[in-house]
Amino acid sequence: MYVFDAIDPLREYLFNLKQTDTTIAFVPTMGALHNGHESLIKYAQTLADEVIVSIFLNPIQFAPNEDLQCYPRPLHDDKHLCKNLDVSALFLPSEATIYPSNSLLTQVTVPTLSTLYCGQSRPNFFQGVTNVVIRLFNIIQPHYSVFGEKDYQQFVIIKTCVQNLFLPITVYSVPTIRDSNGLALSSRNNYLSDTEKNEASSIYQSLCLVKEAVSNGIHDSLSLNRLIKNNLSDSIAIDYIAYVDADTLLPSQTIKKGNRVLFAGTLNQTRLIDNLAI
Ligand code: AMP
Repeated sequence: MYVFDAIDPLREYLFNLKQTDTTIAFVPTMGALHNGHESLIKYAQTLADEVIVSIFLNPIQFAPNEDLQCYPRPLHDDKHLCKNLDVSALFLPSEATIYPSNSLLTQVTVPTLSTLYCGQSRPNFFQGVTNVVIRLFNIIQPHYSVFGEKDYQQFVIIKTCVQNLFLPITVYSVPTIRDSNGLALSSRNNYLSDTEKNEASSIYQSLCLVKEAVSNGIHDSLSLNRLIKNNLSDSIAIDYIAYVDADTLLPSQTIKKGNRVLFAGTLNQTRLIDNLAI
């Protein structure tokens, strides 16, 4: 596996691949890799000849009061996992490589979608995400890129950005990987004790009840919200529950099969998000 931290040698490697019509799939991550990331990498390997993974803890998507400083950084294990998975190249840029001075004079945003849901409580978050992803896309110029449904709003925002800017990249999503209790895997689960993980799994269980209720003919958000609240662990503070159109992310006027339920909450300061197709 090649490991690059600078753009020029990475570009030279990519240039050589493109000379031989080799296809490239790209998986951007912030590290602390788990089976969710692994599933993205494996899916990427079915799409293209070579898979490039980036690990970059993007500072501009964290607010000052958020967990940038304590975000897990097990780089040694991450490298090992990528090597074992037969990743072709790992890109580990520094902050100065991605954001040289004045480079944020140019920004790419998807303003309307970025202010909904997670954007309400994290106002600069999606702007940070689109700005890093667009830079990584421009550096790597992959044919394909793979994102997790775990971060469903992020996936729709990236897809919209790629479409609106006519980028020649096909964006794919991969279903959420969960632990045996249903808790969506996340690097932030490292902050949770076993008891808290158990409590956190009530999120997925509640979303499953919503799906079942909708298929049994319950379509009003008040009843569905009540169902979630009744089944959610008391230790979770709800940030939002939203029932949305799966393509546009706009709130559904009538909740129906094919929509998506989005959830965010906090358990002892750890932010947890999840979503499910209903
Ligand atoms: P992150 O490292 O958290 O920025 O995530 C990198 C990519 O992995 C994003 O596209 C996430 O949506 C995806 N991802 C994170 N957790 C999961 C999961 N449990 N299942 C599937 N994909 C995931």
